[in-house]
Amino acid sequence: MKPKQKKFIFVTGGVLSSIGKGICAASLGMLLEERGIKVAMVKMDPYLNVDPGTMSPFQHGEVFVLDDGTETDLDLGHYSRFVHTAVFSKRNSFTAGKVYDAVIRRERQGGYLGKTVQVIPHITDEIKARVHEAVADVDLGIIEVGGTVGDIESLPFLEAIRQIRQEEGAANVLFAHLTLVPFIAAAGELKTKPTQHSVKELREIGIQPDLLVCRTDRPLAREIKDKIGLFCNVAADCVFSAEDAASIYDVPLNLAAEGLDDKVVEKLGIWTGRPDLSKWRAMVNTIHNPKSEVRIGIVGKYTDWRDTYKSISESLVHGGVANQTRVVPVYIDSEKVEAGDLSEIEKVSGLLVPGGFGERGIEGKIRAIEYARTENVPFFGICLGMQLAVIEFARHVAGLDHANSAEFKPGNDQNVIDLMEAQKGIEDLGGTMRLGAYTCLITAKVMGKATHAYEAYKKEKISERHRHRFEVSNRFRPMLEEKGLVVGGVYRDAKTTTELVEMVELPTHPWFLGCQFHPELQSKPLDPHPLFTQFIKAALLAAKGTQQKLKGIS
Ligand code: GLN
Repeated sequence: MKPKQKKFIFVTGGVLSSIGKGICAASLGMLLEERGIKVAMVKMDPYLNVDPGTMSPFQHGEVFVLDDGTETDLDLGHYSRFVHTAVFSKRNSFTAGKVYDAVIRRERQGGYLGKTVQVIPHITDEIKARVHEAVADVDLGIIEVGGTVGDIESLPFLEAIRQIRQEEGAANVLFAHLTLVPFIAAAGELKTKPTQHSVKELREIGIQPDLLVCRTDRPLAREIKDKIGLFCNVAADCVFSAEDAASIYDVPLNLAAEGLDDKVVEKLGIWTGRPDLSKWRAMVNTIHNPKSEVRIGIVGKYTDWRDTYKSISESLVHGGVANQTRVVPVYIDSEKVEAGDLSEIEKVSGLLVPGGFGERGIEGKIRAIEYARTENVPFFGICLGMQLAVIEFARHVAGLDHANSAEFKPGNDQNVIDLMEAQKGIEDLGGTMRLGAYTCLITAKVMGKATHAYEAYKKEKISERHRHRFEVSNRFRPMLEEKGLVVGGVYRDAKTTTELVEMVELPTHPWFLGCQFHPELQSKPLDPHPLFTQFIKAALLAAKGTQQKLKGIS
């Protein structure tokens, strides 16, 4: 039943960063959504960047783009993989930078009528207004506070959520705190002290957590839960363990087994049925008991920073689920390939070249693409990966031997990847990114044969998200098509009818497809993206072929 009053769950994190607050919030969202509650997922980040668009992927992981073009961080990716009905827009993610920017602009415009503008109440009011705006159309908001309790910059956010509880009433607002309970080998026991300290910090600023979710590497015995409850002033049945899980998709099932969602609805006075987790359970079962295994090479630049490719690696898992297979990602450093080392490339059954910016490592990626094209290895190029596939084709098939991208060789006369005419001469490149969702029209057939693109989507009109500046040059398109490059999808401007290439493929190859957009941003474990499903299917076929060939030799 629909709750009358709007409900809020604020998720904070203690002790350390990276203990899985985003997954915990996402899991809760999934469990409550499955109970028929309309939820909104919101992330508030205490850093001062206005958005993560300009932050280095080394430091902050991937930039997750929403349909409306908002650049957010990878937690929004977790949320959108776990929940299905929630809509994500610029309302669902904001940073301290955005909040301060709005307040300072208002002050400059005289919006505060000469008052002294202060963190409390002006910054906190702005935070509260944004929370209310984000949950306007739903029954329940799950709002994650980024950072770790105890950080100076999260204080205004914590003060704002304290006030929301005061205003909305304790019956409608829950504070869930994720904390770490480490096992100390030397003592041979689980330690609760960091949790006690983290809760103490919260209580000092007026927040008493209602629920404690304890990340641990082993189950928490009843006595430990009792002890934590006693010292943290939380009922022992509100202390939950979140044990390390083999797959992030186990987490909602584990939390449900602990009774977390039961407790949440009980405390918030929401009457619902139990969640139907059968589909989720079946998916997790496939992850743990696959029928086969396939190795996929991801040729990238930041090979040691896996979070840079978080959505891609998750989408590969989803594509694996759709094919009842386990995908083993093999991260291949493009600079090694550039130096001539193809040893790792030779050991995978499919190659994926993801998006990226900047020149470093691109020749290695082009070399990998050439290998995939000439050796019939299934290839999936995403954004920069597609652009490089076009460059490779132009150089080695179409005879444009110094083909390149204007991103790397401005002024070069064979830039098959270029800025659109309208963008040329604009100094501020930040303003010229193509961001967010665009419609793509798919070419169903070429010479009587369905395109790989159509085989995947089974429809002629799709919507995918973008984050790039450069495009396939329309000047070279006819020549590339003449040489056999198939344009599998285009964006067509309604007014000018100008087209932009969205997808390319090679009809003579088992599976060679590049897309200018980012399909990984829309894949979910219960709804794998069709391009990933088809790519893994092709890789499995290729793996079988190689095995048969090897058998034939021996
Ligand atoms: N650097 C390329 C561009 O700006 C590709 C971007 C990407 O892969 N997201 O067009």
